[in-house]
Amino acid sequence: VDEIDGNFVRTVKRCIFSRSIPTPLKGPLRLAAVSKDVIEGILDLNFDVTQSDDFLHLASGGRLLTGSVPLAHRYGGHQFGYWAGQLGDGRAHLLGRYSNRRGETWELQLKGSGKTPYSRSGDGRAVIRSSVREFLCSEAMHSLGVPTSRAASLIVSEEPVMRDQFYNGNVKKERGAVVLRLAKSWFRIGSLEILAESGETDLLRKLLNFVIDEHFPLISSDDPEKYLVFFSTVVTETAGLIAQWMSVGFAHGVCNTDNFSLLSITVDYGPFGFMESYDPDFIPNSSDDEGRYRIGAQADVGLFNLQKLLEAVRPVLTHTQQEQATVILHGYADVYQKRIHQIFRSKLGLLGEEEEEEEDRYLVAFLLKMMEDTHSDFTMTFRQLSEASAEQLRSRNFTQLWALDDLSSHQFFSEWLHMYLLRLSRQINDSDLDRQLRMKSVNPRYVLRNWMAESAIRKAEANDFSEVELLHHILSSPFVTQETAEEAGYAARPPLWAQRLKVSCSS
Ligand code: AMP
Ligand code: MG
Ligand code: MG
Repeated sequence: VDEIDGNFVRTVKRCIFSRSIPTPLKGPLRLAAVSKDVIEGILDLNFDVTQSDDFLHLASGGRLLTGSVPLAHRYGGHQFGYWAGQLGDGRAHLLGRYSNRRGETWELQLKGSGKTPYSRSGDGRAVIRSSVREFLCSEAMHSLGVPTSRAASLIVSEEPVMRDQFYNGNVKKERGAVVLRLAKSWFRIGSLEILAESGETDLLRKLLNFVIDEHFPLISSDDPEKYLVFFSTVVTETAGLIAQWMSVGFAHGVCNTDNFSLLSITVDYGPFGFMESYDPDFIPNSSDDEGRYRIGAQADVGLFNLQKLLEAVRPVLTHTQQEQATVILHGYADVYQKRIHQIFRSKLGLLGEEEEEEEDRYLVAFLLKMMEDTHSDFTMTFRQLSEASAEQLRSRNFTQLWALDDLSSHQFFSEWLHMYLLRLSRQINDSDLDRQLRMKSVNPRYVLRNWMAESAIRKAEANDFSEVELLHHILSSPFVTQETAEEAGYAARPPLWAQRLKVSCSS
């Protein structure tokens, strides 16, 4: 921990954390959203406590638990391809580590809780709109089965926060909010990069040892190859995470190395987006002019980030291990391809059998190409393929199935459908009902589309949190058809205004 105290902005050396006290938000405060799953299932708390004043203050930085020494983490990172130097928690405070009944340890963090030594030119705050997005999306991703940080609560205030949402000179007064978020660890690739860049090799080794001992139970602390095994694990897990993002059409938006977790969980929800009509060039962040972080580039960006991880751990590797690590990195594309293929096969309900591999690859690629040509909705095409019976598909009865109806306008749709049905019919010991059930358990009916978040945000900014609650509830069971969701049109063709929506880094 940093020797110097105080929240003034500075360059920090030779430490991993700085002590930093949260700055309470101006009241009145209001609990805008809370995750029962996190409060009860992770924090072992009685849900009722979230209704107390104590909770409001604890979860927004106004009061600390006894023994809590709030910290801001020092990290660096490559932003949009370039080394950005010291970044760090500029508006987040680590409150401490929490061990629950199940023996799990979670790190509690506030986001939007005021300035730290790492705030640079920022104000240390987060506004309602970005906090609603982080709260909803982290919980929704968890329910989709994607590794992610979690959100316990969202507290909004009357504190004025000035933001130029689209960087067009139009500065508006918004309001501050704080999300209480949790992860098993908040360390990122950038946590190691800054230590390597500054030549702080002892500290680098110390942090690596800590991360390995705490979070990589399969790696023995006296294994001479432990840093190499660690690197190899992060390579595999990161490939797996990005494959999972792709499987639900999630584009992170800002895949900088400071936003890539060492535990390969999704962290830092900013200008993310769920792709609607299928498009590998989908760019969720309106400030990403070059499309560096377009959805179809995420796997490559993962490789770039792992290359930076390798450069960061290089000082603690022997020469031979450095060479081995390079070989491991070369294996990334293969690991990713295997994982993606596995996932998309299951999205199509295809079972095992090695000899079908090539044909299955073709089926998936063919389908995606048709989706691209016809601009079919990514989520609903897969969902409706899951919901339609083979008979319905065969007879092309798509009256209720709008995404399939769009897809079927493709000139080669019949060819593809014929191949697909033939492939399914070869699956002995599989019934059509089983196939549908299997597919419905991996193809969500509801994802957090931008327009859904936007609609909830507009109400939240007017102090109506009902839609945040509704979305939170619906997205906690994304694979189950729900009446309230259908009434709200969440599985229907997106409204026209959805196409004009933009999201920027401003948060
Ligand atoms: P992000 O793009 O959200 O990953 O943020 C990149 C860096 O900017 C991190 O070091 C953040 O802590 C910092 N940052 C972003 N917004 C603010 C803010 N309003 N005040 C202080 N620091 C910020
Ligand atoms: Mg970040
Ligand atoms: Mg952020």
